[in-house]
Amino acid sequence: HDLNSFESINPYTGEKFARFELLTDSELDKALQKSQEAFLKWRKTSLKERLALIDALGNLLNSEAPTYGQTISLEMGKPLREAIAEVKKCAVACKYYVEHAPSQLKSRKVPLETGRIGEVRYEPLGVILGIMPWNFPFWQVIRFAIPALAAGNVVMVKHAPNTPRSALMLQQLFARAGFPVGVYTNLFISVQQVSGLISRREIAGVSLTGSTRAGRAVAALAGQHLKPSVLELGGSNSLIALPDAPVQKVVEQAVNARFMNAGQSCISAKRIFVPKDKYDTYIKELTIRIKRLKVGNPLMDDTHIGPVARLDLAEQLEKQVAASVDMGARVHLGAQRSGTIFTPTLLTHVKPGMPAFDQELFGPVAVLIVYSSEKEVIQLANSTPYGLGTALFTEDVERAKKLVPKFQDGAVYINEWIHSDPRLPFGGVKDSGYGRELSEEGIRAFVNVKSVVVN
Ligand code: NAP
Repeated sequence: HDLNSFESINPYTGEKFARFELLTDSELDKALQKSQEAFLKWRKTSLKERLALIDALGNLLNSEAPTYGQTISLEMGKPLREAIAEVKKCAVACKYYVEHAPSQLKSRKVPLETGRIGEVRYEPLGVILGIMPWNFPFWQVIRFAIPALAAGNVVMVKHAPNTPRSALMLQQLFARAGFPVGVYTNLFISVQQVSGLISRREIAGVSLTGSTRAGRAVAALAGQHLKPSVLELGGSNSLIALPDAPVQKVVEQAVNARFMNAGQSCISAKRIFVPKDKYDTYIKELTIRIKRLKVGNPLMDDTHIGPVARLDLAEQLEKQVAASVDMGARVHLGAQRSGTIFTPTLLTHVKPGMPAFDQELFGPVAVLIVYSSEKEVIQLANSTPYGLGTALFTEDVERAKKLVPKFQDGAVYINEWIHSDPRLPFGGVKDSGYGRELSEEGIRAFVNVKSVVVN
């Protein structure tokens, strides 16, 4: 990758179709100054004004979703149908905060002793820097930016270097919705420039969605400069079929949860646990379903799986699968790579210690693991550095509810695959990061909670 620029390369055809130069340090300085000036005005606007702009943005996202969906597909290879759904989901998040931000940011009165009344207010912090990945190039940005802006902050976004056209389109969308200059700023900058930026007084907080490696680096910088941070990092979610779970339902949901976005999702079901005595049935049904997935051009309506987003990522996936096979895992299906295309794969005989168990496999690889007892499956599910989510499948919902506290995760879903919803907080524990996005927790991530007492 040419580190002097951000480039759009269609991962399906290999065609380079856009290139953007990095900002110079002095251009970055000016952008930061503009952003800070914008903050001083934006913080004084009423919540109603801010939400009217967010509403307008949501309407644009909704009505123009096919246009942005096409760009997403071209830049990172997601099937167009899924890309359009991603943009529409952004519109839903806008609507959610238009409806709920007023109550979430409303100051609250607290009775104190001797009849005095205290007050808790939620004030903005300033310029918040978002560092974003390519796998949901619109959704990740919107989920960070909308609550931060609603709360009266302004945002600067350093997007992934392989989705620059999406990054630019987002900035143009905010402008068209009527946001003043400097309230949303896209930055084509290097990781070195990000480090410098975090140290600047004007930056009041940092939110990163990306790998655990990037999270550690950014958290260290944020810590050094005492900036609050939210980290949404990698995951190795478990999907557990308890012994009584209906096989067809589990298989249908597991295939969706694992192969959506060609498996390149933080919350995809990276480890599928099935009871030992039902192993043959699960293998049979999973094979049938996985074979039905059509691999090909992401722009075609009938494509389920597009390419992996970059050649280096496809190569990395191939190495992780090969290393797992060297350690005893078996390829039941797939695992053929041709450039960025990686055929839908089912790996069996996977055990702790193998990359397919211990690491995040960011691509279309389903990993099947057998267990013999409830105790064992809980222990195995937790035997990962990650902690984003676990999905449990069973007819006995009451039993499943009792198991919820046993999982070291930011989410446990029963009889449903894990996906984010603006109404629910989203985030992880352990190496999956800290802090929460979305819901009320998301809007409170970057606010100064101010206690006011009058005597
Ligand atoms: P990545 O390589 O970590 O990159 C994410 C962003 O961080 C990019 O903009 C990247 O820029 C930047 N970055 C990397 N190292 C940095 C550093 N030292 N300082 C400052 N910025 C740095 O991740 P990715 O490959 O784009 O995305 C996939 C990962 O994201 C997976 O692990 C996935 O699980 C995770 N993810 C998590 C969530 C969640 O909500 N928990 C959601 C989606 C994705 P450069 O590319 O220029 O280095």
